[in-house]
Amino acid sequence: MSKKKVLILGGGAVGAIVANKVSREMRREIARGELDITILDKNATSYNQGGYTFIPFGLLTPEDITRPRRSLISPRVNCVFGRDGEVTMVNLDQREVKTVGGETYAYDYLLIATGCQCDLDALPGLKEDFNTFYTNLDDTLKLKERLENMPKGRIVILTTGMPVPCPGAPGKFAALLDDYVKSVKGWKPGTDSTITFLWPLPLVGPPEYNKLFTRNLKERGIEDRREFKPTEINPSSRQIVSAAGEIIDYDLLITIPVHKPAQAMVDSGITDEKGWLPSDKYSLRYNNKGAESYREVYVVGDTGPVDILKTGIGAHYQASVTAQNLINDLHGTPVTVPYRGETGCPFVQSSYTTSQRGKAHIATWTYDNPLKPFKPTELGWFFYRMYYYIYWDTAIKGLM
Ligand SMILES: Cc1cc2nc3c(=O)[nH]c(=O)nc-3n(C[C@H](O)[C@H](O)[C@H](O)COP(=O)(O)OP(=O)(O)OC[C@H]3O[C@@H](n4cnc5c(N)ncnc54)[C@H](O)[C@@H]3O)c2cc1C
Repeated sequence: MSKKKVLILGGGAVGAIVANKVSREMRREIARGELDITILDKNATSYNQGGYTFIPFGLLTPEDITRPRRSLISPRVNCVFGRDGEVTMVNLDQREVKTVGGETYAYDYLLIATGCQCDLDALPGLKEDFNTFYTNLDDTLKLKERLENMPKGRIVILTTGMPVPCPGAPGKFAALLDDYVKSVKGWKPGTDSTITFLWPLPLVGPPEYNKLFTRNLKERGIEDRREFKPTEINPSSRQIVSAAGEIIDYDLLITIPVHKPAQAMVDSGITDEKGWLPSDKYSLRYNNKGAESYREVYVVGDTGPVDILKTGIGAHYQASVTAQNLINDLHGTPVTVPYRGETGCPFVQSSYTTSQRGKAHIATWTYDNPLKPFKPTELGWFFYRMYYYIYWDTAIKGLM
């Protein structure tokens, strides 16, 4: 048997899970020198991005949500992390990938899992007053410091457009922020502070999610504006202007910008007309213009098509299905396991404070089974918090 090469671009949630599952199942072929699995990632540290939502309130620490990437991946897998692992060009016809250091990697099977990133050019004025928990740990820690030092005032949480990964996270952040200013800072709502939630769509999540979320904001006294389409941020007057001509004043603006895929994918000319990497919604194989044009190429996780929701829960399910399909491909078994759209978004009603125990629910649904009515519970909050601690050794190592 000639040696087969599996190349994985991006060692985040998807890349790590697929590498760990495939290398475990195919350990004999790797030991016999018949299979080689390589991951490229531009960063040698792995971050659990979901934890960024908790960092500003001291509910998680940087140590909780970071790990050396190498420590998460099976020793059976070749890893090139840091500058040498940064992909600059993907050539699907030649089956080649180039990196910043000038190396060229050939493959028989390719997994593109380079995630997505904030588009800071999408809104005039955004870069001049940019506070967020959506980019990286440094920005998130800066936001923590700003909140700690803020005497009082109006905080606006602005989501500029879609898509964003985990569209539930801005809303979770709003509930956690409200608990924080009331129970940690001791602000009196209405007199010391107001929180405003600006959202580009009519609903936040599926209808059942939106119903509870809307009620939660109302009960908390958080101002809730939907279908808000910002056109400009004016940092000198501290104002946001909308397409409808509304002007919103703020003292602290927290922004979740619209996202885009890694620049290398755009430069490689492999994105679709909506700007994302196209794939078949069931097989997750690269699929431009309606055909499985490159059966040996998988597109998985946040870098996938705009119509597939970008969440860590979805990424986990997609990674499991893709690992099995890669194993089938390598064995020459003509079976494709479908991804049925399993995804979800944690709903946070409240956090643990001196006066409450916290309530949450891990809401999930699929392409064909809409989210059913649910009730956030104290156990749900406990489980959601615990998940951040078991994430590294169970989910990322491909054990669940
Ligand atoms: C603030 C926030 C809160 C969230 N909360 C939740 C939540 O509560 N629940 C939930 O389910 N999901 C949540 N998510 C979403 C979840 O984190 C993502 O859906 C998940 O990480 C996607 O996995 P991925 O592997 O596709 O991308 P990532 O995990 O982002 O991995 C992409 C990898 O590609 C690498 N890369 C990028 N460009 C290149 C390049 N040119 N060359 C080489 N490597 C490259 C990156 O370094 C990265 O390691 C949240 C996201 C954010 C930002």
